Amino acid sequence: MSNALIESQELRDLRAAVAALGKRYGREYTTAVVRDGKQPDELWAEAGKLGYLGVNLPVEYGGGGGGITELALVLEELGAAGCPLLMMVVSPAICGTVISRFGTAAQKERWLPGLASGTLRMAFGITEPDAGSNSHRITTTGRRDGDHWVLSGRKVFVSGVDIADATLIVGRTEDARTGALKPCLFIVEREAPGFQWNRISMELAAPEKQFELVMDEVRLPGEALVGSEDAGLLQLFAGLNPERIMTAAFATGMGRYALGRAVDYARTRQVWSEPIGAHQALAHPLARCHIELELARLMTTKAAALYDAGDDAGAGEAANMAKYAAAEAAVRAVDQAVHTLGGNGLTTEYGLASLVTAARVARIAPVSREMILNYVSHRTLGLPKSY
Ligand SMILES: Cc1cc2nc3c(=O)[nH]c(=O)nc-3n(C[C@H](O)[C@H](O)[C@H](O)COP(=O)(O)OP(=O)(O)OC[C@H]3O[C@@H](n4cnc5c(N)ncnc54)[C@H](O)[C@@H]3O)c2cc1C
Repeated sequence: MSNALIESQELRDLRAAVAALGKRYGREYTTAVVRDGKQPDELWAEAGKLGYLGVNLPVEYGGGGGGITELALVLEELGAAGCPLLMMVVSPAICGTVISRFGTAAQKERWLPGLASGTLRMAFGITEPDAGSNSHRITTTGRRDGDHWVLSGRKVFVSGVDIADATLIVGRTEDARTGALKPCLFIVEREAPGFQWNRISMELAAPEKQFELVMDEVRLPGEALVGSEDAGLLQLFAGLNPERIMTAAFATGMGRYALGRAVDYARTRQVWSEPIGAHQALAHPLARCHIELELARLMTTKAAALYDAGDDAGAGEAANMAKYAAAEAAVRAVDQAVHTLGGNGLTTEYGLASLVTAARVARIAPVSREMILNYVSHRTLGLPKSY
């Protein structure tokens, strides 16, 4: 479908260039990386070299000077080619954005050029075992000790800690341990003493792994704190809105990939007189998936445009809606794709079945479907809260 009305020529050129890169790697590459227990290092390095990983980061730190619009487009196209890079959701999108917007000059110099080129990676940890969807209950606490910080707490499901040079941890300060969340963001380098990470076994065919983090009196330099300890939620959402937009792009990319595979199959597979795609019982659900994916892409474009224009509040609502729409569209597209292939939909050879769990991730993380419905019920529609 033509995007000429909503995408500049420059963006369309970027989309085409990233799609060409994705095509060179494709689903076979990701499948082989997962099978061999490796990481998509070659693709990550090439995308970094071509300027795609840091396309949203400031030019003076080696980035492309674009916004989340460009970064989301990159992730979507790689996903549509079957080789999404999950760490893009956290490394350049959350961590790169937060450091660009709130970091000190020293933090920017230390991290941004590497995050932009892909030579450095940063994970992001907010989820806690006893807080889950309710981030206001997080208890990871930073205590001042002279010029240093001492960080203690636990996190779960943090992606890519093993391959990240550092993790941006959301905590709170000691004097703000209770009450409404006033988050503080700390950069914790992977080898910091007291920073332990244990792999959580997941039923996901993805190269990036999830980890439990145990931080036992991790001693951090004063400059580990990003931004102000009093800036509160504003700073955090500067990173969380891009995360939602990127998750939407991740989901629509995956949905497009699955739908493309299903359509190719339905065009040629013939068990009666016509290819199976001629049966409306298959054709209509595929058409519906396409419409839902296009709608989700449109909302993602809107959310990214609002964020890049500096409208954090407007972007928050749109990013939530985009993430919701994209996750639902992706889950349905993958389900329909598997079904379209019949028995082949569940074979290793065709490689679609593993997307069933992968697509579900976007429905749960970084904020679940229900929490978005809560947000829209309360914030957008003004309905009363039940919790
Ligand atoms: C593959 C994967 C990667 C992840 N990567 C990261 C990462 O890099 N960093 C990170 O910090 N986290 C990460 N997460 C964690 C993710 O953000 C959380 O799983 C998610 O926020 C949900 O939290 P929870 O798992 O504790 O579920 P819970 O909060 O326990 O929720 C369980 C269920 O209850 C529902 N529920 C909860 N409260 C309400 C309510 N008030 N109303 C209605 N329904 C409700 C939820 O919608 C959900 O369906 C990842 C998760 C996965 C699966």
